[in-house]
Amino acid sequence: GSGAAAQTEPDVPPTAKTEEDDKDDKAAQSLLNKLIRSNLVNTTNQVEVLQRDPNSPLYSVKSFEELRLKPQLLQGVYAMGFNRPSKIQETALPMMLAEPPQNLIAQSQSGTGKTAAFVLAMLSHVDPNNKFPQCLCVSPTYELALQTGKVIEQMGKHYPEVQLVYAIRGNKLQRSVKLQEQIVIGTPGTMLDWCLKFKFIDPKKIKVFVLDEADVMIATQGHQDQSIRIQRMLPKNCQMLLFSATFEESVWRFAERIVPDHNIIKLKREEETLDTIKQYYVQCTSKEEKFQALCNIYGAITIAQAMIFCHTRKTAGWLAGELSREGHQVALLSGEMQVEQRAAVIDRFRDGKEKVLVTTNVCARGIDVEQVSVVINFDLPVDKDGNPDNETYLHRIGRTGRFGKRGLAINMVDSKFSMNVLNRIQEHFNKKIEKLDTDDLDEIE
Ligand code: ADP
Repeated sequence: GSGAAAQTEPDVPPTAKTEEDDKDDKAAQSLLNKLIRSNLVNTTNQVEVLQRDPNSPLYSVKSFEELRLKPQLLQGVYAMGFNRPSKIQETALPMMLAEPPQNLIAQSQSGTGKTAAFVLAMLSHVDPNNKFPQCLCVSPTYELALQTGKVIEQMGKHYPEVQLVYAIRGNKLQRSVKLQEQIVIGTPGTMLDWCLKFKFIDPKKIKVFVLDEADVMIATQGHQDQSIRIQRMLPKNCQMLLFSATFEESVWRFAERIVPDHNIIKLKREEETLDTIKQYYVQCTSKEEKFQALCNIYGAITIAQAMIFCHTRKTAGWLAGELSREGHQVALLSGEMQVEQRAAVIDRFRDGKEKVLVTTNVCARGIDVEQVSVVINFDLPVDKDGNPDNETYLHRIGRTGRFGKRGLAINMVDSKFSMNVLNRIQEHFNKKIEKLDTDDLDEIE
């Protein structure tokens, strides 16, 4: 049958998403990005800078030397394999390291060097001779805090006098302790307790306050409130820095509330385009037929690596099984996996250990695997009402700007309903999706 109901199998219960789910999704996505990211994201876009004082000169650096970092820190930067500042670091670093300290709201997609930038700023501003907290860094989850902590440790490798401590729920300290560490990194609730209730931290002595992953943070009302309460305890001259990968209106409102007298740096995300993609569709009548068509395609053309998207976990699991039986090396990315497991699967796929990655959309959002030349929509992306999800379609198969290699996208259609979805996607992008006859596949190569 056709209709939205046919697209949603019972393994995805149609429950409303709670605020907590939404935050978990975002946090998991962000963590996954960090775990699988090994280099900077390439950007061709220019940063946009909005200075608080438009008359003050705007500095931008092309090398780390120009920043006059402490030698131990410069050593740390080079030990991490950084040769030159990333696009966002070129302007953000001089601004964050200026005297007097400048406040900053910065937005750029994940992988553009934000974390490295604020870690360097924190390490530069601490006085290692003072054995008390001087920098606070707030993250939405324990796992994300740990990732940032690792960067602090790597970059500060040659600066052992600077120590860090995690303000996270599991970390129970003796009541009367005064912290010796100069950098405290943690989640908003525990951080607030450590400042207010337990007084492990004297907020008046804080010189740098960092709010990381603001878009994930604000997904929870409690986190917003806690962050604001921490911020209010800090001295007037404390440097406030806020980072976010995305900037919806709500993030923006929060940022402006929590960071006074701010400068703004924005780096637009690289646009995705369908211009370098050949799009096809295959007409079938059932999922078995779709599988057969897929086998025909594999028999006819050489596919280095492919990603196959299914609507539900159940279909993804079934398809992965069928493909393995056909002798393919298949990786399956599934919703019930832990973020670390997912990262491991993606890493193996990126290393070419498997040639096919079968996944549902939830798991693979935001993953870009450059060598993937073929994307197969085993099910077309639809939202919960059964309408075409154009954004997801673009995201699955689109390539970024000028670097984009040519790609191939194949859409599997198995009902009137999905044919309609396909037509609407085609109209939306105003780009023809050609019909492919899988019994005669000469045309696609
Ligand atoms: P973001 O916080 O925006 O997600 P990160 O700071 O985590 O970005 O940087 C993304 C990746 O790029 C990390 O692997 C990081 O080590 C690396 N990286 C950051 N800055 C540089 C640089 N200047 N040169 C080379 N690699 C860098």
